[in-house]
Amino acid sequence: MGKEKIYKRYTVTAALPYANGPKHIGHLAGAYIPSDVYSRYLRLNQKDVIFVCGSDEHGTAIPNQALKEHTTSQAIIDKYHVLIRDCLYKLGISFDVYHRTSDPLHHQTSQEFFLNLFNKGLLTEETSEQYYDDEAKAFLADRYIIGTCPKCGHAEAYGDQCEKCGSSLSPRELINPKSTLTGNIPVLKPTKHWYLPLDQYETWLRKWILECHKKDWKVNVYGQCKSWIDAGLQSRAMTRDLDWGIKVPLPDAEGKVLYVWFDAPIGYISATRALFQELATGKNNYSTPQRDFGKVKEKDWKAYWQDEETKLVHFIGKDNIVFHCIIFPIMLHSSEEYIVPQNVPANEFMNLEGDKMSTSRGWSIEMHEYLEDFPDKPDVLRYALLTNLPETKDSEFTWKDFQSKNNNELVAIFGNFVNRAMVLTHKYFEGKVPAKGTLDELDKNVIEALRGFPSKIGDAIENYKFREATAHLMDLARLGNKYLAETEPWKLAKTDMNRVGTILNLSLQIAANLAVLSAPFLPFSAEKLKGILKLDSHNWDETGSVSLLQDGHQVSAAELLFEKIEDEVIAGQITRLNENKKKMELQNQSAVPAKAEITFDEFSKMDMRIGKVIAAEKVEKSKKLLKMQVDTGIDTRTVLSGIAEHYTPEEMVGKQVTILVNLAPRKIMGFESQGMILMAEDKDGALKLISSSDPVSPGSSIS
Ligand SMILES: [Zn+2]
Repeated sequence: MGKEKIYKRYTVTAALPYANGPKHIGHLAGAYIPSDVYSRYLRLNQKDVIFVCGSDEHGTAIPNQALKEHTTSQAIIDKYHVLIRDCLYKLGISFDVYHRTSDPLHHQTSQEFFLNLFNKGLLTEETSEQYYDDEAKAFLADRYIIGTCPKCGHAEAYGDQCEKCGSSLSPRELINPKSTLTGNIPVLKPTKHWYLPLDQYETWLRKWILECHKKDWKVNVYGQCKSWIDAGLQSRAMTRDLDWGIKVPLPDAEGKVLYVWFDAPIGYISATRALFQELATGKNNYSTPQRDFGKVKEKDWKAYWQDEETKLVHFIGKDNIVFHCIIFPIMLHSSEEYIVPQNVPANEFMNLEGDKMSTSRGWSIEMHEYLEDFPDKPDVLRYALLTNLPETKDSEFTWKDFQSKNNNELVAIFGNFVNRAMVLTHKYFEGKVPAKGTLDELDKNVIEALRGFPSKIGDAIENYKFREATAHLMDLARLGNKYLAETEPWKLAKTDMNRVGTILNLSLQIAANLAVLSAPFLPFSAEKLKGILKLDSHNWDETGSVSLLQDGHQVSAAELLFEKIEDEVIAGQITRLNENKKKMELQNQSAVPAKAEITFDEFSKMDMRIGKVIAAEKVEKSKKLLKMQVDTGIDTRTVLSGIAEHYTPEEMVGKQVTILVNLAPRKIMGFESQGMILMAEDKDGALKLISSSDPVSPGSSIS
């Protein structure tokens, strides 16, 4: 381990996935892969670490999604909690516990947290005007209001945040707000809420972030925090008018719940409590302990959140920085019970094939889709993401790059090196590790280089530079590959078996080091390689040595660690991506639903023809109606049509129209209308004439 302060224990959190839909590989790259590498590395260093996560199941997007899927909020969270959790586990994310915020323990923990702040007088009670939708008869939660972002001009910013520029907003700041429930302009109505006065903590934040963490926090995270603090923080409501969520534990709070961003980060604490409850009682509803915790008591969770010798690290994507660096730390700090995070190594976004990743637009690779198509390749995805993490700026995933990382690095370097060393050991030494003879200059250089890898990789991980750490790992495999290529033991077999023994001994030692050092990055392949080498467990500190395998140690048969991915497979993925996008574009066009089916006979009863308007005038006292004389080819007749708001009488004269001529005459505003002019009407009610692009003589029938 590096030179930083030695901590007694570590609490590692990964952003709680929001259980309103599947999650894509951009989420993996943002929070889950980095936090997993970090936690696995700490475990290999024999550290006392817990890695906690769970589903975020409150907030307005849950009932929203339930409406979309014609089901209940409970059904939505049950479905996505399981889907997301199982995908993360299959991709090797090694949580000690994966909890959920709908669990009673979390409700209790959140209410206790709220009451503690309330009883200390730290929350201010304010009655304020909030947006209300008269038609829907509901106060509008932040996510039910969209409007123009005052910071960047994005037209579809939400009431709490602009997803384009990442600014944290309040609904009143939006320009031209609209209710997403009805499309109406909302009105302001008084309602009472409890606020966290963020502005009162400015001095503390300045000292804590701007002074203490200027050096060790990532530049992008530090910069965002600084600009928010410099812009001045405002009080923020910690409660909402909503019926889905955790009830505000006060007598005069009927119909009010905790703000989802108040309760969600407390989910890390609840998850920790759940872990220790289950460790103490031997249950495992939520927990999957990744190491031996020994004998523990339920209350032992407290040390991981309340002891100053614990290092708390939050792994998140950049859209969550304000909540994890400003609001939650203020909650923790003001509680006078909890520690605050030592670091929040947030990542930027990962784009996909030249465009922003988005599930709703169909431009994404969902975790479950990847696992369906590549069930035996979790490590390939981990590697492709790790080598391309958006650590300091947005990055981009392409299927071509995925293929090339697999074929040119995992297969051609890592896999090839291990395979050659194994095959040659079986060929010349019956699968037994040969003894080393005299070492030459080249051997000594290789050993020297090998010794440097554990600390190079470890330092990079401890500084949250996971791309760099992964590059070092592949360099170790490269070192082995190059060593075999330069020494060519297969050519020496006839003349100098001692030399061959030395070369293969060192090669196998490099392979054994790879098996231990790759475990945080490629856990499945590392396990497989350990099996091939019949290697016992080793911790990080034992690596960098050339004695992980004893002379005469019997290894298993050679097996391929990685396999080539063919061009067709990649082409298939790109086709699928484009098809998904088209499918979602069609789904997102909310046209008027189709009417009931009719028979051909019913259709053929309708006599539709092309006509020509020869006169048109407005109808008195009607805003909508035009009265027209139409040449139908059969006759000239009077037709009334509700198009006056879309066309003037002058515009209509001479126009070709489509007319239903055998519709029974109807009296409209005192005039008899003898037929109906057909119009196209879009979902917003805009009308357009239907006409032929080529000239057609009046009376032509339509069939
Ligand atoms: Zn914006």
